[in-house]
Amino acid sequence: YLNRFVSTTSLVRNEQQSNAKTVPEKREFQAETRMLLDIVAKSLYSEKEVFVRELISNASDALEKFRYMSLTGTTLENSQRPLEIKITADKEAKTLTIEDSGIGMNKEEIINNLGTIARSGSKAYIEQLKSKGGAPESLSNIIGQFGVGFYSAFMVADKVDVFTKSSLPNSVGLHWSSDGTGTYELSEDETAELGTKIIIHLKSDCTNFSQEDTIKDIIQRYSNFVGSPVSVNGTVV
Ligand code: ADP
Ligand code: MG
Repeated sequence: YLNRFVSTTSLVRNEQQSNAKTVPEKREFQAETRMLLDIVAKSLYSEKEVFVRELISNASDALEKFRYMSLTGTTLENSQRPLEIKITADKEAKTLTIEDSGIGMNKEEIINNLGTIARSGSKAYIEQLKSKGGAPESLSNIIGQFGVGFYSAFMVADKVDVFTKSSLPNSVGLHWSSDGTGTYELSEDETAELGTKIIIHLKSDCTNFSQEDTIKDIIQRYSNFVGSPVSVNGTVV
């Protein structure tokens, strides 16, 4: 399986295109992840805005990781670049894009981090649910108490695109894409820049999250822990 991925890659590489892409491979989410995604899809409207906090917190973690590795002597690609979080709210496209210039992910990391449940809190909750064998009594339990991390994007999205490139030398750009049901697609994509860009395609009843003012307001209420500059449509907040 891996060999096929590698050989496709070298075929594309031989064409020496800087925007080379491979054919997406379809992969399944882990069973626990599918359960979590089901819960997330049924979230209450009042809970939805926490996805902004979760994605900014991941972007912030990725920037801190980059800083730490840089300070402790790891060789990183383009290590002098500005470390920042750029958010773009696009009303016309009905998208919200959250971009960081942090550490990024390689293929193994993206499969492990965005295909399985990495968070111990969510995992414990899912184990509890499975042992009871029933529907969750309170959805806000998991969303409020544990937080659902990256998957919270699917409270508002009918599709999420992730473009990422690890800052470790000789990394390959990747494109991860999912509608949050059973599967996701993964391909190599050399248009991906160092760090991570997450494009949230908003559900038709969640398009208010593509309004600049709404996003600025949410950030001001939730995200005062961020140690890097955050901008919304070009203005630092
Ligand atoms: P947590 O942040 O608690 O680990 P999340 O579900 O929020 O759980 O994220 C899962 C993992 O995905 C993170 O631990 C990290 O390894 C990876 N990840 C998510 N967002 C990013 C990002 N913007 N840059 C790099 N890695 C990320
Ligand atoms: Mg997180």
